[in-house]
Amino acid sequence: MEREYMEYDVVIVGGGPAGLAAACRIRQLNEEVSVCVVEKGSEVGAHILSGAVFEPRALNELFPDWKEKGAPLHTEVKGDEIYVLKSAEKSQKVPNFFVPKTMHNEGNYIISLGNLCRWLAEQAEALGVEIYPCFAASEVIYHEDGSVKGIATGDMGVGLNGEQKDSYMPGMELHGKYTLFAEGCRGHLGKQLIEKFKLDEGKEPQHYGLGIKEIWKVPAEQHQQGLVVHTAGWPLDENGAAGGSFLYHIEDNQVVCGLITDLSYQNPRLSPFDEFQRYKHHPVIKQHLEGGERITYGARAIVKGGIQSQPKMHFAGGLLIGDDAGTLNFAKIKGSHTAMKSGMVAAECVVEAIKAERSSDDIAEYAEAYKASWAYQELWAQRNFGPAQHKWGNIIGSAYAFIDINIFNGNLPWTLSDPVADHDQLKPASEFPEINYPKPDSKLSFDKLSSVFLSNTNHEEDQPCHLKLKDNDIPITVNLPKYDEPAQRYCPAGVYEIVKEEESGDCRLQINAQNCVHCKTCDIKDPTQNITWVVPEGAGGPNYPNM
Ligand SMILES: Cc1cc2nc3c(=O)[nH]c(=O)nc-3n(C[C@H](O)[C@H](O)[C@H](O)COP(=O)(O)OP(=O)(O)OC[C@H]3O[C@@H](n4cnc5c(N)ncnc54)[C@H](O)[C@@H]3O)c2cc1C
Ligand code: SF4
Repeated sequence: MEREYMEYDVVIVGGGPAGLAAACRIRQLNEEVSVCVVEKGSEVGAHILSGAVFEPRALNELFPDWKEKGAPLHTEVKGDEIYVLKSAEKSQKVPNFFVPKTMHNEGNYIISLGNLCRWLAEQAEALGVEIYPCFAASEVIYHEDGSVKGIATGDMGVGLNGEQKDSYMPGMELHGKYTLFAEGCRGHLGKQLIEKFKLDEGKEPQHYGLGIKEIWKVPAEQHQQGLVVHTAGWPLDENGAAGGSFLYHIEDNQVVCGLITDLSYQNPRLSPFDEFQRYKHHPVIKQHLEGGERITYGARAIVKGGIQSQPKMHFAGGLLIGDDAGTLNFAKIKGSHTAMKSGMVAAECVVEAIKAERSSDDIAEYAEAYKASWAYQELWAQRNFGPAQHKWGNIIGSAYAFIDINIFNGNLPWTLSDPVADHDQLKPASEFPEINYPKPDSKLSFDKLSSVFLSNTNHEEDQPCHLKLKDNDIPITVNLPKYDEPAQRYCPAGVYEIVKEEESGDCRLQINAQNCVHCKTCDIKDPTQNITWVVPEGAGGPNYPNM
């Protein structure tokens, strides 16, 4: 059946900082250029999860008058603390002098990135951009010559077994002279494009972390608006893993806290969710949360390979921007400003191309323009931070980063390598003892189900499962015996369960797809790369209020 289509000059997939900044910039430069943005969340911001300490450099360039326009940057950073957690009780505060300068936050703001995106969407609409929330781009459409023609949104009203229900509505094609892919970390279409156009040829594998975050309302007397606390070490190092935590005091007596677990961990018995629960019991953290109430929960993968892992970002008919292309600066644990800048540079190139009456060709000049931008330059200067953390762990890795970044300004004449993909790192479960995580106390620590409840996640249940297994047998024949099926633990939403049949005693993998918070960890960490995350029906997924 032929699908309906609409034509634009530019189609943008994803209403995050990269996609929205690109959309705004295009219309600022030329209001004749038609632009649409499709967003899979129920509204812009619903699927956005970030820390977030925000560096306003790109926003200053995009909207120098953002204050007058009411951008939701309400909390300036007032204090920066970094601790090494040495055990469940002990800690060491790192003197300010020894902190890598990328971790200093003077001039930055603690924000809800979801709310900033909502505001950016308002600015984009005021500039004439058409934004379609509830529409998930499920397919890339190609011209006969192989260049990208646009995207198709997913069909609605298809039942679990593929049958069309009464509510069936076919997807729609959106054609553009150029299509910008801004799906964020581990984009579903971005992954296909990287493969099709071999955009990662000659690059290091991409690396990831899983960030799990909560928002708490705390007693007013405990609240220190503007305080930023980061930690490294315990609890992850107890199980040989790396990562770090963030805890920020934002406005309205709210404290956000989260743990990022480096997905290069080797022990398949590790559970990032349970590590996060016990982290909150450390005295350094507990003092900020105790007596408060947890109000929101969510999780999202973070892309952290840096320039060594960045794919080529241009191909015939399209560009990859933002975290879809890995633009995050891991040395700062910040990617919003670089994602926005990559989108703005892309916008400038696309507007020039359209002005020259080009269409669907390869905007190769984007590579040079991005390279000349401050976004690329800061990633270049801090390129060794991530590999050093992998090679030597958090503590020695940070000491190396101090020398490389603070003393040599990133000018040391080498580039460290991190050549093993995260999914290849897992070792057999038999090499590790069981980890007995403490039971949640329902005051500071909680179970997965009550947590997912707070993410307001909702999917139409009668639809094809959006977590596709290439081989249905692998979870039971390979993953269970060898790795004790790690999906049971790395998924922060309890989607994957091994169920033992009562009568036969056989095990099977149950996929509770309706709980999925779209973090993308299963697509990244499955040891045999057997799981592919595809978009579910538009609007499905979490409904984060202010993550
Ligand atoms: C735990 C955590 C903490 C972080 N802390 C910070 C911080 O303190 N400071 C900072 O600057 N950065 C931080 N980051 C990184 C920052 O959030 C990202 O770099 C930034 O959000 C990237 O922007 P983006 O527009 O590329 O992607 P995203 O913000 O991920 O936005 C992508 C958008 O595209 C939509 N989308 C995806 N696929 C489709 C599709 N197929 N069809 C339609 N819509 C689609 C998504 O729903 C989403 O709205 C953090 C990230 C995490 C996970
Ligand atoms: S199913 Fe995959 S993408 Fe969904 S929450 Fe679990 S790990 Fe994340």
